[in-house]
Amino acid sequence: KHFPIRQSFFKTLLTGQKKFVHAVNNISFNIEEGQTLGLVGESGSGKTTTGRLVLRLIEPTNGSIIYRGTDITALEKEPLRKLRKEIQIIFQDPLAALNPYMKIGDAIRHPLDIHGIGSREERHDMVLDMLSRVNLEPASDFFKRYPRELSGGQRQRVVIARALITRPKFIVADEAVAMLDVSVRSQLLDLMLKLKEEFDLTYLFITHDLATTKYICDRIAVMYLGTIVETGSFEEIYKNPSHPYTKALISAVPEPDPETKKEKMIPAGEVPNAVDLPSGCFFHPRCPYVMDKCKVEEPPEIKLSKTRMVKCHLFGR
Ligand code: SF4
Repeated sequence: KHFPIRQSFFKTLLTGQKKFVHAVNNISFNIEEGQTLGLVGESGSGKTTTGRLVLRLIEPTNGSIIYRGTDITALEKEPLRKLRKEIQIIFQDPLAALNPYMKIGDAIRHPLDIHGIGSREERHDMVLDMLSRVNLEPASDFFKRYPRELSGGQRQRVVIARALITRPKFIVADEAVAMLDVSVRSQLLDLMLKLKEEFDLTYLFITHDLATTKYICDRIAVMYLGTIVETGSFEEIYKNPSHPYTKALISAVPEPDPETKKEKMIPAGEVPNAVDLPSGCFFHPRCPYVMDKCKVEEPPEIKLSKTRMVKCHLFGR
């Protein structure tokens, strides 16, 4: 039922000499079955690494990933392969995710072939059904097309269809609508919501765009430099953010009404280098509320309520 993950210290190699990057550091979160958790943060905050860790596409150096009561962290190759039927990922760039020489129908059917699901005829029917469910109709026509013959939005529908063809329960959507025009984006979000109901899905929705979470997320976890700085329900976070970084993200969301005035909290300066993390609170070089303590002491996780956590020295004093 829950997906806790505790992960510390992920390494990467830089040119010349080996250095370690704290891509994700000591994070822990749960996703309730049937819910959507939005993982939000700037580029380089560790969101994508977290998504890949949850799916074991990257191996964690420490910690555990629990999927429906089972620790999958040390799962061997074969059981992990079987589990991949249930947990899938939708990538940001549909063009890169699809083989340009493979027809759409064959691409969507491929996971069924890999997992040996259904007879030849059944697989064919399942693909046609899935094409209809993602509104690519007439399905028999789209079946025979190539990715280059489709628009960006249509290609992303194909990627979604391929991810859902094995009837997974858990989907990591990694910036799944980021490359699309605003109008197409809202159509895709509507589609993801519809499919969530139809297939009883649970989503980990990774995005740099807090505004997008409004349409789809029940809960939000805000990441900064590899650590989660605030979690809460969508309403709690959006209407009453606690962490200065969350406030800054919200202040950057454009308001449809130009008369609406928002406190501007765009943090000054660049995101610090993850190879050489700041001392104390990682956000202190950009924080308008910085105190002496923030520069030397890492803030603890403070529980503000049953559903709310913030990592900041301004709280729990
Ligand atoms: Fe700002 Fe200090 Fe809170 Fe970090 S701990 S966010 S520097 S007030």
